[in-house]
Amino acid sequence: MIPYGRQDISQADLDAVEEVLRSDFITQGPAIGRFEQAFAEVCGAAQAIAFNSATSALHAACVALGLGPGDVLWTSPNTFVASANCGIYCGAQVGFVDVDPKTYNLCPAALQARLEQTPPEARPKVVVAVHFAGQSCDMKRLRALGDQYGFSLIEDASHAVGGRYGDRAIGACEYSDCAIFSFHPVKIITTGEGGMVTTQNRTLADRLNRLRSHGITREATEMRSEPDGPWYYQQLELGWNYRMTDIQAALGHSQLKRLDQFMERRQALAERYDQLLQSLPVIRPWQDPAGRSAWHLYVIQLEQHDRRRVFEAMRASGIGVNVHYIPIHLQPFYRERGSREGDCPEAERYYHRALSLPMFPALSLDQQDEVVRALDQALTASEQ
Ligand SMILES: *Cc1c(COP(=O)(O)O)cnc(C)c1O
Repeated sequence: MIPYGRQDISQADLDAVEEVLRSDFITQGPAIGRFEQAFAEVCGAAQAIAFNSATSALHAACVALGLGPGDVLWTSPNTFVASANCGIYCGAQVGFVDVDPKTYNLCPAALQARLEQTPPEARPKVVVAVHFAGQSCDMKRLRALGDQYGFSLIEDASHAVGGRYGDRAIGACEYSDCAIFSFHPVKIITTGEGGMVTTQNRTLADRLNRLRSHGITREATEMRSEPDGPWYYQQLELGWNYRMTDIQAALGHSQLKRLDQFMERRQALAERYDQLLQSLPVIRPWQDPAGRSAWHLYVIQLEQHDRRRVFEAMRASGIGVNVHYIPIHLQPFYRERGSREGDCPEAERYYHRALSLPMFPALSLDQQDEVVRALDQALTASEQ
């Protein structure tokens, strides 16, 4: 089976992990700081804080931005459930704003309309903007709405390590409070499990640093009283153990050095899919020329064919196609909290037609040809 996504581990990656395993620290050592600094530089962000997953990073970011019981978080339904669950962890209400039919990202016009229709007390404190497939949301417009209506803006950039918005790297946070990245093996670079927050805001970074480790500080300047001695630490608030290990950080740092290579390869595969699929009756992913997708996913839409039949035919011929995403508001958990079919018609229509084709750096051109051949056959077969 050719999977839809897969990690790419080199000898240098293995060597970096082995070096940490043989060193004094396998967690809470120097590899974390090195990875954070390198990641911040790649993004053009002042601060980067590593976490043990993007999910925990999203949770901590919501807490750090003050989201709590009685507050409201809005996000796109076309994402992994973690983008919404972070609000529930905080005791907040979660709502969904429909996607733009061209980009499949949260639609600024839909957001504006919903804000106008919502009384001030029910408006969101936090909006999570998900860069679907690796293509940035329209951050400028989202920020303008955030300034007008007073909400904080988190970028869920789990798909978008290496992507660009305008001429800046995603993660530079020019228009957001912070950006969150995932290092799950299907994403752009991996640490097994892992996540990162980037921000330009030092206060937010300090808070995130504490929240990932039980709310504890070792900085005398942050303490409520004079330290008892050099051993001293204080717990200032309730945090969690959301720390990344040094083993993971060493892998992430080594993977990050290969980011340009990964980006080139994904870009080349996307362009080649665009060409190979030109003669097939499918909708190819529209790209805003002003940015650059990280190409985590290559998603086509089937307008004239039964998606399920095409999906099953491709799986039967060994192509690990997938579907991203089942709209979150249709999950039983969110239906029980008031969401209904019809709430986000664009995301629902998109969902019924979407198909993710294999996309990862180690996909060979022969394999890519095989994917397109299998798709062609599956489309023909599902016409009868
Ligand atoms: C993968 C993913 C997450 C969760 O990442 P983890 O590192 O697995 O916790 C969150 N949001 C989106 C959009 C994702 O794709």
